[in-house]
Amino acid sequence: MQTNLPQAFKETRHGKRADEILRSCVHCGLCNATCPTYQVLGDELDGPRGRIYLIKEMLEAQEADAVVQTHLDRCLTCRACEPACPSGVAYGELLEIGRDFLEEHGRRGLIDSIMRRWLVSVVPDVARFKRWSRLGRPFRWMLPRSVREQLPRRNPATRQVFDARERQVLVLQGCVQRAITPEVNTSLAALLDSRGIEVVYDDEESCCGSLSLHLGNASETRIALHRNIDALLPMLDDVEAVISTASGCGVTLKDYPRLLAGDESYFPMACRVAEKVVDVSEYLSQLGLEWDKTADYQRVAWHAPCTLQHGQGITGTVERLLRDAGYELVGVRDPHICCGSAGTYSLLQPELARTLRSQKLEALCEEAPDVIATANVGCQTHLANGDKNVPVVHWLELLR
Ligand code: SF4
Ligand code: SF4
Repeated sequence: MQTNLPQAFKETRHGKRADEILRSCVHCGLCNATCPTYQVLGDELDGPRGRIYLIKEMLEAQEADAVVQTHLDRCLTCRACEPACPSGVAYGELLEIGRDFLEEHGRRGLIDSIMRRWLVSVVPDVARFKRWSRLGRPFRWMLPRSVREQLPRRNPATRQVFDARERQVLVLQGCVQRAITPEVNTSLAALLDSRGIEVVYDDEESCCGSLSLHLGNASETRIALHRNIDALLPMLDDVEAVISTASGCGVTLKDYPRLLAGDESYFPMACRVAEKVVDVSEYLSQLGLEWDKTADYQRVAWHAPCTLQHGQGITGTVERLLRDAGYELVGVRDPHICCGSAGTYSLLQPELARTLRSQKLEALCEEAPDVIATANVGCQTHLANGDKNVPVVHWLELLR
């Protein structure tokens, strides 16, 4: 695709990269076939090709209008369009540049701005998020459905203490997962303890930065990345891996070097952190675990979060581990399609998120599974609030 970006913008880091990505797109439209929002809305501007064009026009004119804002806001950032692209267009990266520009130059309505501000200031702060969750619980019935669905229904479990071991891994707690499904990490700690590996936590750990990154808030993202690197760095040499059990956090942590590429002081440290980060499925698969298959095993419908399959490119690993552990995996139609959770998407685009959830649950339940398993707290909560009476768990909870 030909581009005509202003020279001054082209000389910036974002401008140079946007130009490269835009030029790699040949406008064939093959990506539209895998895009969930294009499938639901049938509008060219709600597919990747249309959004690429909108970003190009916005960057060329150096102006952001309401049309581009509407269609970029509707993008899930699921990146299902990337593997479908024969030209290898880095759509996710272009979208990040587009959203940064939009946040700086666009104008949002008051409610939307307040909601985004609230999300950036509350969700990544564990203490604040827990306080809001506690306060919100008695008034649950008064809250909008999209907010109500995100509140934890019960008090978080307390952390179990295991013996000290020679081998140690640092397990990330995440901000939302720590408040909503702390039992996921408890399951992992018990599993690793039985194999002689100790799980340690970093109480200084802060948000990985994915929330502000998806909202296009560049300054908050940089602050979050710096803060988290400062927290993780002192523990890196003592552990064999930094394990993420929430695929949404893992994908961002692995991307720290790219996100801090122009940041001279933090780039080397970002590389050190990212080198140690592995998804829990990657870590467990290289341990060569053996399982007691005498228990009452179930039929599982596996939902791979977009951040695992498209973001981290991990496919087949969890499925293999679950099968090795004795589970039967049922077939699931359109496994590449997003469930509609997509970080804060279910709060900011509730109708589309609910439509995608209904479609995903239909696909997951076609072969009547006993349980739905996934790998990210956002997908888990979102699917569990749907209209199917099938339990939704993190896959680690199925391993014994
Ligand atoms: S992003 Fe890739 S698949 Fe989509 S229109 Fe461009 S070249 Fe074609
Ligand atoms: S990231 Fe997902 S929603 Fe956005 S354009 Fe690509 S496939 Fe569509």
